[in-house]
Amino acid sequence: MALALVLNSGSSSLKFQLIDPSADATQPPLASGLVEQIGEPSGAVTLKTGGEKYTVSAPIPDHAVGLSMVFDLMTEHGIGPSQVEITAVGHRVVHGGLLFSQPVVITDEILNMVRDLIPLAPLHNPANIVGIEGAMEILPDVPHVAVFDTGFFHSLPPAAALYAINAEVAAAHGVRRYGFHGTSHEYVSQQVPALIGRDPEHTRQIVCHLGNGASISAVHNGKAIDTSMGMTPLAGIVMGTRSGDIDPGIVFHLHRSAGMSIDEIDTLLNKKSGVKGISGVNDFRELRAMIEQDNQDAWLAYNIYIHNLRKYIGSYMIALGRVDAITFTAGVGENDVDVRASALQDLEVFGIEIDPERNALPNTGPRIISTDSSKVKVLVVPTNEELAIARYAVQLAGE
Ligand code: AMP
Repeated sequence: MALALVLNSGSSSLKFQLIDPSADATQPPLASGLVEQIGEPSGAVTLKTGGEKYTVSAPIPDHAVGLSMVFDLMTEHGIGPSQVEITAVGHRVVHGGLLFSQPVVITDEILNMVRDLIPLAPLHNPANIVGIEGAMEILPDVPHVAVFDTGFFHSLPPAAALYAINAEVAAAHGVRRYGFHGTSHEYVSQQVPALIGRDPEHTRQIVCHLGNGASISAVHNGKAIDTSMGMTPLAGIVMGTRSGDIDPGIVFHLHRSAGMSIDEIDTLLNKKSGVKGISGVNDFRELRAMIEQDNQDAWLAYNIYIHNLRKYIGSYMIALGRVDAITFTAGVGENDVDVRASALQDLEVFGIEIDPERNALPNTGPRIISTDSSKVKVLVVPTNEELAIARYAVQLAGE
């Protein structure tokens, strides 16, 4: 069985999954887990496999050591790299800039190109590079493939991709919309035509990826024509802890009048805003529990979130001209019945009718939740970015 190892590296953490890319999307991965607190005095490796969870605690100086500890733990449980056939390693890379529209096999040259993009993603790309280098050290004979979070949005038309700011400054500093969560938007949007019985070449759709981070895309015949995240993943709809779109003048105000530093404002907008900034919680299960207690801050956070979401859905309906499907995915989108109902409430005049019973069914797989008479089909399609990355990795490794 040809397996792919999928890695998502952060600056001090490394998430991994060992996946059979030919498996059904509902199958759990063969193994998954997390390396935490890399470079700190104490670290931990967690491995989940066969329904069990194993943890090893020890200092982990770097990503390569973390990965070798993962492999030792896998070997103890019969799924080490010498016991199974890992044919490719897929790396999630956050920023591909204008350089990458497609996944690529990683060479020294490619790695240098990813390095060149660090100014666009100063927190994410360095961590991704360290993870790639660590994994290549441990698995030197296996092809490594980079899959870019921005790739699917490389084809955005200029009117959607460019901001109306000074063109010289924008060009000199790479200021434009890149979009993120591309692997998820692509994976989900590719499944929709078959689910609604349409030709992919004639399907216009909106995908709502609502997780802790959240983004919406408009997809016209398989190609993204707009998306809510921008030059950075801070833009767009309200998120768990991120503000989404705000008046850029707020940044100047907070700096000049409130005396906040740029780093403080960065933290405020990325980590202390969004649903959490209004209600104190970012998990929608907690938010719902607070709403049920009639907590006014929770209601306000929910209403702001839904208002924003509806504005984006409405603008993409106009951008697409005709909409065949609206699909919800990711943690909130797949599980939160109320968010889906509120997002599309009272839109019958636009041919959008959610069926309350279908909407309330548990998250067991891809499904239609609109009524049979709804002109616009509404769906829930669970995302699986790791499986998408695994499939790309094995496909490119075989070429
Ligand atoms: P993600 O970023 O896609 O992993 O989504 C994580 C978020 O999904 C969490 O912060 C929760 O807000 C939300 N979530 C997960 N499970 C549920 C659920 N059963 N009901 C409502 N929201 C959920």
